[in-house]
Amino acid sequence: MAAKTYLNYIDGDWTPSSTGETFDLINPATCEIIASAQHSDPADMSWAIDCAERAFWSTSWRNNPGLRRDAFLKLAGCVSHNLNLLADLNTANNGKTLNDSRTELMKLVDLISYYAGLTMNVFGRAIEPAQDAFSVLIREPLGVVGVISPWNFPLTLMLRAAIPALAAGNAVVLKPASLTAAISMEFVELLSETGAFPKGMVNAVTGPGQTLGELLAKSEKVGMISFTGDNSTGRRVAELGAVTMKKVALELGGKSPNILFADADLNKALPTAVKAAFSNCGQVCMAARRLVVQDTIFDRVVEGMKTALESLIVGDGRDERTQMGPLISRKQMETVLEYIELGKQEGNLITGGYRLQGPEYDRGFFVAPTLFTDLENDSRLVQEEIFGPVLIAQKFHTEEEAIEIANGTRYGLAAAVWTLDVNRAIRVAKAMQAGTVWVNSYRKTYCQAEFGGYKESGAGRTTGIEGMLECTQLKHINFDLAAM
Ligand code: NAD
Repeated sequence: MAAKTYLNYIDGDWTPSSTGETFDLINPATCEIIASAQHSDPADMSWAIDCAERAFWSTSWRNNPGLRRDAFLKLAGCVSHNLNLLADLNTANNGKTLNDSRTELMKLVDLISYYAGLTMNVFGRAIEPAQDAFSVLIREPLGVVGVISPWNFPLTLMLRAAIPALAAGNAVVLKPASLTAAISMEFVELLSETGAFPKGMVNAVTGPGQTLGELLAKSEKVGMISFTGDNSTGRRVAELGAVTMKKVALELGGKSPNILFADADLNKALPTAVKAAFSNCGQVCMAARRLVVQDTIFDRVVEGMKTALESLIVGDGRDERTQMGPLISRKQMETVLEYIELGKQEGNLITGGYRLQGPEYDRGFFVAPTLFTDLENDSRLVQEEIFGPVLIAQKFHTEEEAIEIANGTRYGLAAAVWTLDVNRAIRVAKAMQAGTVWVNSYRKTYCQAEFGGYKESGAGRTTGIEGMLECTQLKHINFDLAAM
């Protein structure tokens, strides 16, 4: 069967890019071409922005919450109905396991359903600020919201930004990551088939981030940019956004610590630590990349992790037995292998540390689950985000030392603490410089709970009520009540 070609979705129509060029999308487990997408140029993006702006002003979407609720409910139903089909394509395009793909889709249904309800709750407030004065503060949408998203969760991260923006009454222009454009555009197809979103409210343009993403960030017609991705790209987006003073929400990288005190329940902590670091092949912003372990249990934990990692089933995500898939691309694999070589010079390699070889691996981008110990805190491996299957174990003696090590990077996305001492759990959770802290668990995220970074892991929050309110602006309307 010929691989499908995805078109751009602009103003309710499917259109080829003005360049007439496309790019191929591959399965990272096998390098087979699974589809192609439009290599768009700035003219395509400008047109999408114009259409979104026109739709925002000419339809009732911005002030008709019932319309938005009904569209979301219909979309949630469609995603549920097509869940397995989308999960299969997500795995084929991204490499993650089928189980992870299904979980991503189920959480998406939750997210869309949750915001269906919130469309009816874009609340402002009323006050009497002085004698004979009455004020209302209303929340209004910003207009066009540009959504620039990465490839590691091609649906969640695009929609975690787009759905709250739409719920608040905005129009959106999506710029999905190129590597996973197939699954992102398949989702947009499904959305268009609901017929529930007015023409031009949702637009999607594929192609190079540097031209299309930058245009979106610069455009004076765009009221807000919601960016998820690498720190250096995020910085560029923030700089460009500042030119027109638009709102910029940034969800960036992480180097999250997973702290294990001596009294931790290791039967639960160790299997959780494996998933926290290695699911999606470690290509998760909030992955627990550093295992911060109390000295008295350090050797036991390292030995337990080594055994667990060596029994992890690595392979093609489409095989139901697979527990860890490939990296997304050759470039990503090479970057990860470079860090591993550095780690071998600077630290102690416990397990892994090589590209997997064999008939089932040779065409894809597979790296063995890797664990290092004995790295200095200022080592690049400890300080920099390695977006891959590499875990660093760090040793501490006292609680103060654990906190210092955990907070000792420029990132602050997430953290976890494992202890049975409730007072210590509260003390350490409060001391973490991180947007999310788990106690005796990891990577539990909910559509109702806000998510975002401290320090250089980002600015602003997605999901929850705040995630929607971020996509609004407040207007103060004041009434003079004094008799004439
Ligand atoms: P990336 O920054 O390379 O790309 C992200 C998006 O930005 C893509 O759509 C890309 O096309 C676009 N882009 C590229 N150059 C651009 C430019 N100059 N201007 C505007 N847009 C541009 O990131 P990635 O490699 O796709 O994703 C991995 C990174 O994302 C990691 O650092 C990871 O931690 C981070 N991430 C963060 C979160 C979070 O919630 N904090 C979630 C997932 C991923």
